[in-house]
Amino acid sequence: MCDTMAWKIDKQKCLRCGACVSVCPELALDLREDGLKNDMKKCTLCGICERVCPSRAIEVKK
Ligand code: SF4
Ligand code: SF4
Repeated sequence: MCDTMAWKIDKQKCLRCGACVSVCPELALDLREDGLKNDMKKCTLCGICERVCPSRAIEVKK
């Protein structure tokens, strides 16, 4: 994946628990059939989703 991307999800690691979706203050995340989606127009790169993920599937770079 591209290094300039500021929010990344590792689909292999995601457990589909929904924790990140429920804590995102911007309601940017959506758990769909084909995986977790982030609406980057809403995301502020706050990093909360990265911190709550039990499997460290999310990586946020400011
Ligand atoms: S970094 Fe913050 S705003 Fe962006 S998806 Fe995660 S919790 Fe939501
Ligand atoms: S918190 Fe982590 S494991 Fe749970 S749905 Fe989000 S990315 Fe997947």
